[in-house]
Amino acid sequence: MSVNSHDPFSAPDSGPTDPFLGDPNDPSKLLDELDPVEPLTDTDRKEIAADLAELSEFQAALSPHGIQGIVVDCGDCGEQHYFSWALMASNLRSLLGHGRTGVHEPAAEPLTDSYVTWDYARGFTDALAHRS
Ligand SMILES: [Zn+2]
Repeated sequence: MSVNSHDPFSAPDSGPTDPFLGDPNDPSKLLDELDPVEPLTDTDRKEIAADLAELSEFQAALSPHGIQGIVVDCGDCGEQHYFSWALMASNLRSLLGHGRTGVHEPAAEPLTDSYVTWDYARGFTDALAHRS
């Protein structure tokens, strides 16, 4: 079982590649594939830990701009799910702890303009990181 396609720990060349490029469904697959309760592999745990680390970068970079969290196109129910930074982080942490999460529980009355996709957040933080 693969959480997603990127594994920064095993990729010696961690350049500005975007593993979601050309695959807009990847971020929701990330969550959907974890829906069944299965034991996490070490790779899964590393990837989730990497996602958590990335998420905190996103929050640090984006929250000063009024962005409140991540929106995910859900391949399961076809809806968009809005996760505040804290909710997304707690979902990822609960994956590490229990192997499942409440992805379909939306944030209460999200301000939808204040949420960005994982892709967008990654592009934004990449741009900041490469700004001299
Ligand atoms: Zn859903």
